[in-house]
Amino acid sequence: AACLLFFGASSMFAQTSLKANVSLEQKVNRLLAQMTLEEKVGQLNQYTSDRLATGPIAPNSNKLNEIKQGKVGSMLNVRGAKDTRMLQEAALQSRLKIPMLFGLDVIHGYRVTFPIPLAEAASWDLDAIELSARIAAKEAAAAGIHWTFAPMVDIGRDPRWGRVMEGAGEDTYLGSLIAKARVHGFQGKGLGDTSAVMACAKHFAAYGAALAGRDYNSVDMSDRMLWEVYLPPFKAAVDAGAATFMNSFNELNGIPATGNSFLQRHILKGKWKYNGFVVSDWNSIGEMIPHGFAKDNYEAAQYAITAGSDMDMESRSYINNLVKLVKDKKVPESLIDDAVRRILRKKFEMGLFDDPFRFCNEERENAVLNSVEHHKAARDVSAKSIVLLKNENNLLPLSKQVKSVALIGPLAKSEVDMKGFWSVEWQHDHLVSLYEGVQSKLGDQVQLLYAKGCEIKDSVQTGFAEAVATAQKADVVIVAVGEAFNMSGEAKSRANIGLPGVQEELIKALYNTGKPIVVLVMAGRPLIFNWTADHVPSILYTWWLGSEAGHAMADVLFGDYNPSGKLPMTFPRSEGQIPVFYNYKNTGRPLVNERAGNYRSAYLDMPNSPRYAFGYGLSYTTFSYNDLKLSKSTIKGNEIIDVSFTLSNTGKYAGAEVAQLYLHDQVASVTRPVKELKGFEKVFLQPGESKVVHFTIDREMLCFYNQQMKWTAEPGSFKFMIGGASDNIKLESKFELTQ
Ligand code: BGC
Repeated sequence: AACLLFFGASSMFAQTSLKANVSLEQKVNRLLAQMTLEEKVGQLNQYTSDRLATGPIAPNSNKLNEIKQGKVGSMLNVRGAKDTRMLQEAALQSRLKIPMLFGLDVIHGYRVTFPIPLAEAASWDLDAIELSARIAAKEAAAAGIHWTFAPMVDIGRDPRWGRVMEGAGEDTYLGSLIAKARVHGFQGKGLGDTSAVMACAKHFAAYGAALAGRDYNSVDMSDRMLWEVYLPPFKAAVDAGAATFMNSFNELNGIPATGNSFLQRHILKGKWKYNGFVVSDWNSIGEMIPHGFAKDNYEAAQYAITAGSDMDMESRSYINNLVKLVKDKKVPESLIDDAVRRILRKKFEMGLFDDPFRFCNEERENAVLNSVEHHKAARDVSAKSIVLLKNENNLLPLSKQVKSVALIGPLAKSEVDMKGFWSVEWQHDHLVSLYEGVQSKLGDQVQLLYAKGCEIKDSVQTGFAEAVATAQKADVVIVAVGEAFNMSGEAKSRANIGLPGVQEELIKALYNTGKPIVVLVMAGRPLIFNWTADHVPSILYTWWLGSEAGHAMADVLFGDYNPSGKLPMTFPRSEGQIPVFYNYKNTGRPLVNERAGNYRSAYLDMPNSPRYAFGYGLSYTTFSYNDLKLSKSTIKGNEIIDVSFTLSNTGKYAGAEVAQLYLHDQVASVTRPVKELKGFEKVFLQPGESKVVHFTIDREMLCFYNQQMKWTAEPGSFKFMIGGASDNIKLESKFELTQ
């Protein structure tokens, strides 16, 4: 009787509050006990909104009826307080009145657009990255969203893969710290906080290792590589409390991730004791059919639920088959119960049973979105994301006293491309183009000239003459080239990752005018631009920076912000070098090997080294690294070494340096990478100022998976290296681990 009263028609929510002292698990179990099998399966079903001009779904549509019947546990692509309220009201017409979860890809900002995640990773500023996610969450939550499908924590070692734009780059250590910062940012003080959205660590797992960089492609990798390189950022997300996980489109070693028990049951829910839920990727359950793994949706549903995929995004395999699968005794109902429990737990933690409309408040939405403070934070992290690749003649920063500036190139006035992939039209009232940013920085005193030169993908040079003539009239030429916002992202793999179209030809034509020239490359991935890198003395890599792009670029160009970004991904010289990353292993025939003669592990036609290495990035000032000190040179057991050195700003400008610590295990039972990032510190220094920087080396940092796949540190000699880039080591020494 108590239960009946508890879920009685009108008083369920009041009753839930009265029972506030009832533990979460009890609440979940009581609700579960009320549910029919059909209602349970409904909780595992997620649909997209239809995104109609008239609203999220059509009135009287089947979908709406299914919601009212309790057959939909969650919707994606619904946004805004008004639309989410309308759909939540429909969900509350169902027998048990279980509220729905609204999910959306809030990847880099909701209304105020932040830099793409790869760009933010270049800031190496964990606080700024966390703040960016915090603001995205605040805005999204105010617009009725409970759940973002972010962060993407896939390691990206292949710039042909368009989704590198959505991750934190190639490094496991940096990627793990950024995963944690983003989860904390999205989830704020916890799911009960009305400005929190649930995070979703994706795509579990190894999606970034798609063969040949082609999106959705197969992945075949060793266990060691999986555990050492690809899984740690996911583990970091678990430890940071990520409420949900998303599985993946790819197969891993022959088994699609969505039907992969080893990944989802053994590792995630077993070894890592994860108690959140796993959502499939879009129709990834259905895609197990073309993979050649499941015969039909009935089998696909069976494999997915058995493997631990809790919620079905958009394939309808669950809603159409799970009830039958249970009745046919192919799937035990206990598996469905486990998945439902995981989802209900989050609904309770989000406070949705106390107030299903807590996020659907138009007043709050209007007050929170697009605030000045959010724009300020976006401008700040945008400036921090820019990487100075070259400044040979110290042309940068440009003087604000300049008389005339020519802004040239297909991206110089572009607003739309600043938004980057994964942000949609409705998000943008306005994006600041480079042109607008420079104009507002310099005011009317300076003559601003403009020519487009060419379109991003043009194959003709018809605009070059005008561009050259414009350049000739100016004191300094700023050239804006790169990718359109939809050239990197999901399903945006490119086999050739040069500057698209004739853009590099345009740079040549402008360079040949002899005018001082700065090139800005705006893109979603590392691009190849060898001629420019060889000839043009000043190059900034600005990625896609979002709402405040133009302001941030102008801040850097004119010295109001001294660039401090460092590349989170290696820039190759040629696609033929890919995959190329800094933590590779030596062969028996490294470049330095007298015995090898000419038979070395090298290309005949180009160096092994990349164009720009991981961790690389310049500043308007210079830094020196001195006075290396070790507290001891031998450690045993759990002893630690304190490494210290003095970092000094030896140039003319105040600025920040990211000092990086790399380790190398010289001889081990399993060969080890030539170096691995194990620490970094971003230090701000005034000109002439010095600071002593400390790193602690502990046993955990020396561990790896040995031949038995046991996480262990082996005694022996270790090299450590400190510097401003993976290929610019300033201080190095050795120490011993004795046992
Ligand atoms: C992507 C996911 C995304 C989902 C929902 C899929 O195609 O792979 O990352 O969250 O769509 O939009």
